[in-house]
Amino acid sequence: MDHSAPMGRVRVRFAPSPTGSLHIGNARTALFNYLFARKNGGTFVLRLEDTDRARSEERFETELMESLRWLGIRWDEGPDVGGGAGPYRQTERVALYRALAEQLVREGKAYPCFCTEEELEARRKDQLARGLPPGYDGRCRALTEGERQQRMAEGKPYTLRFKVPPGEAVAFEDAIHGPITFTSDALTDFILIRSNGMASYNWAVVVDDAKMGITHVIRGDDHISNTPKQILLYRALGLTPPRYAHHPLILGLDGKRLSKRHGATAVSQFRREGYLPESLAFYLVGLGGIVASDGPLKGMDEIVEAFDLARVSRAAAVFDHKKLLWINGRFIRELPIDTLLSHLAPFLETWGVADRFDRETLAAIVACGRDNAQTLRDFEAVFRIFTEPPTLDGTAFEGVERETARAILEIFAESCHQVVSLDEEGYITAAKAAMKRSGQRGRRFFMTLRKAITGTDHGPELAKILPILGKEEVIKRLKGALETL
Ligand code: GLU
Repeated sequence: MDHSAPMGRVRVRFAPSPTGSLHIGNARTALFNYLFARKNGGTFVLRLEDTDRARSEERFETELMESLRWLGIRWDEGPDVGGGAGPYRQTERVALYRALAEQLVREGKAYPCFCTEEELEARRKDQLARGLPPGYDGRCRALTEGERQQRMAEGKPYTLRFKVPPGEAVAFEDAIHGPITFTSDALTDFILIRSNGMASYNWAVVVDDAKMGITHVIRGDDHISNTPKQILLYRALGLTPPRYAHHPLILGLDGKRLSKRHGATAVSQFRREGYLPESLAFYLVGLGGIVASDGPLKGMDEIVEAFDLARVSRAAAVFDHKKLLWINGRFIRELPIDTLLSHLAPFLETWGVADRFDRETLAAIVACGRDNAQTLRDFEAVFRIFTEPPTLDGTAFEGVERETARAILEIFAESCHQVVSLDEEGYITAAKAAMKRSGQRGRRFFMTLRKAITGTDHGPELAKILPILGKEEVIKRLKGALETL
């Protein structure tokens, strides 16, 4: 079957190796591909480059897909959803890589190489010692057919190497970096199939991209140096290479490549720390200069609208955790409560508060806490206000004389009795009346109430907390506090 895409129909892919958690740098690559596909009505393929058998693990595959889905990224074809160009795991495509490599051998464009690891390493050291660039010296290229047959008959392990054609110009127009030119003379014959039968990265990626009809390769610019090799392979196969777009990598504030030293780097970790997928997606796209991080917030549909590959910045993207945190706080304040609630659901489970409230109360608590929250984790303290009456001791009201504190609490409790309901309006009426009668106001008054009712001196507005607690509970807490005074 021919899987190449009809002309003009965009097909892109994200091709991670399942050897660890999804790093935000890779998540950004995935996002760019997804956005490009959606913007152009194209197809987005997820392909797992799991040829490193020792380091690839199923749990990483699962986490990777979960992280992508959480970010709002959906793929049209992939290992879990299938598709017409599968299989989508490289370990399931080994026969194809070998067959095509052998075809190149038959055409005289590749050859078996019997050099051992030790021989290669010794020659590499020698090259370095003599100040030469390391690379394969082409020794097995010169073997006669007889010599080849003999080594095969001896059962010597071999790799299949690509015969790099000499003196070929390799130029391509990168959608982000502009024209890039290489010469094949800078390359040495490289491996297509390893002695263990597995394809090299460059070979597998070209075979897959070609067979899967990929029209645009969007990836990190650490792959620019692989591109000439890949283009030569397309030529050897008699195929036209896809278009390339290499985006800059994400750096830490110190200008070094973003790593664990800089704090969280895995999408799953940001998720655990209470970041919203909306914030991370918006920030990662903002790092490419596609949306203004300080401008109006955008959801995925609006990001798709704004997306343009040609506008992705060429400058390195510097990751600033503080900025992301700030954006997260903005999303927490602006998203619909229902959206926040669904993001909060797993946290509520962990905190053991999921079943303690009806939906309406949950929504009210979220509305109450969102003004001061920067991450979803900040909601834990807000929920505790409602699930755990404060435990106060004699020192709770320090700074306010005992008699004054007593008077404020007693009088406010009476005022609460007098209002029909302690909704926001009832609270204001009760507070005003109590201020008048007690002669206390401002910080002393409100801090005393806050301490008595919530147990701490900070948190959401009392006008939002009290209506949720309700009159009865508020009076109960005031009494409890009075007992400690
Ligand atoms: N598995 C490669 C990576 O994660 C894919 C590179 C590519 O897109 O060609 O870097």
